[in-house]
Amino acid sequence: MKKISLNDLSRPVPEQEAIKAAILRVVERGWFIHGPELREFETEFAAYCGAPHAIGVANGTDAIELALRALGVTPGNDVIIAANAGMYSATAVRSIGATPVFADVDDHHLVLNAASVRAAATSRTRAVVVTHLYGRMADMTSLCAFAERAGIALIEDCAQAHGARQNGRVAGTWGDAGCFSFYPTKNLGAMGDAGMITCRDEGVASRLRRLRQYGWEEKYVSIEGPARNSRLDEMQAAILRVKLPLLDERNARRRQIARRYAATPCDGLRHPDVGGDDYVAHLYVVRTHARESLRQHLAEFGIVTDIHYPLLDTQQPVLKNHVAENLRLPVSEASVHQIVSLPCYPDMTNDEVERVCAALSEWTP
Ligand SMILES: *Cc1c(COP(=O)(O)O)cnc(C)c1O
Repeated sequence: MKKISLNDLSRPVPEQEAIKAAILRVVERGWFIHGPELREFETEFAAYCGAPHAIGVANGTDAIELALRALGVTPGNDVIIAANAGMYSATAVRSIGATPVFADVDDHHLVLNAASVRAAATSRTRAVVVTHLYGRMADMTSLCAFAERAGIALIEDCAQAHGARQNGRVAGTWGDAGCFSFYPTKNLGAMGDAGMITCRDEGVASRLRRLRQYGWEEKYVSIEGPARNSRLDEMQAAILRVKLPLLDERNARRRQIARRYAATPCDGLRHPDVGGDDYVAHLYVVRTHARESLRQHLAEFGIVTDIHYPLLDTQQPVLKNHVAENLRLPVSEASVHQIVSLPCYPDMTNDEVERVCAALSEWTP
C-alpha cells in the first residue's frame, strides 16, 4: 500500500519547464539580489492582492518582525497574538523586544475575533497580529473596526492564506500590513525561503524597504534602524513569478479536496468549516477527543497525519517564565489536544483523496 504523505513537493508539475527557464534566466543574467525579478514579482504580487505596495523579504517571520517595526512597535510594547499559531508571531514580537500577549481564539474557526482581542487589550497594547490559521481568514470587518477604535496597528499573518478573499478583498489588504511566507509547503511556495509584506501606506512601505537592507536610504547610507538584512533573492522571485498565476487554480483544488473530506460523515470527529472564499485549505484540520486512535487508524491505511501545532506558544519551553500563571485560554487549551491535520495539497490524486475518505468513514472512536 502506497503511503499518502501530508505533502509531496517532489511530484512532477506542469510548470517544471517554465521554472527551469526562469532559473536559467537568472543564472545567465548574473544578477542575484534585488534585481529585475524581485521588482517584477513585487509589482505582480501587489497587483494580485490589490495592495498598493509589496515588499519582498527573506521569509515570513522576518515579514512580521519588520512590519511590527515599520508600524512603530518598540521594545516594551505589548502585541496581541493567538497562542495556537505555531510560535511564528511570538518569535517576531520577541525579536524586537516587545511582549507577546496571548488572546484566546473562537471555537468555530480557531482564529482571533474582535471579542477575543478586546478581552486581551490594555493601554500597553500597540498592535495585534491576526493569523489566518489553516487558510481560514479571521473576521476582518470586526477586527479592523476594533483596531481602528482602539488606535492599535493590525498586522495580518497571511502565511497560510495566500489568495483567500473576504467580501471580495484579499488577505493582506485589510490590516496595516499583510505578512506572507513563501516557504515551499505554503499555498504559494518558493524553492527555498522567501517572504513578502503588503501595505497601503507609502511611508510604511518606504520604511520597510530601508529596514530590510541595513536601514539604507541609498547605497551605504543608513537612516533607519535598528534594521536588518532580509532580502528575497532573484532566483526565488523568478520561481515565484512562474507560480503566482497558478495560485487561484491550486487553491481551488485544495478547496475541492477539503469539501470532499467535509462531506464524509465520521462519528466522533468535527470537520472544519470549508465554505467560502475566505478558506484556502492550507491545512485540513479536524478535531476529535480520540486523536491518538484516529491517527493510529489512518496510519494503518498508510495515511500520514500531523499536528499543527502540538504546543501552544504559552507552553513553549522558551516562554515558560514569560507567561502569567493565571492566564487561561480555554478554547486554545482544549483544541490543542484535539487537532489533527489530514493530507491536503493540490497535487494529491483523486484516488488518494478517496482513500482518505474511505479510511475516515471506517473509523470509530
Ligand atoms: C510558515 C508560517 C510563518 C513563518 O514563515 P517562515 O517563512 O517560515 O518564516 C509565519 N506564520 C505562519 C502562520 C506560518 O504558517
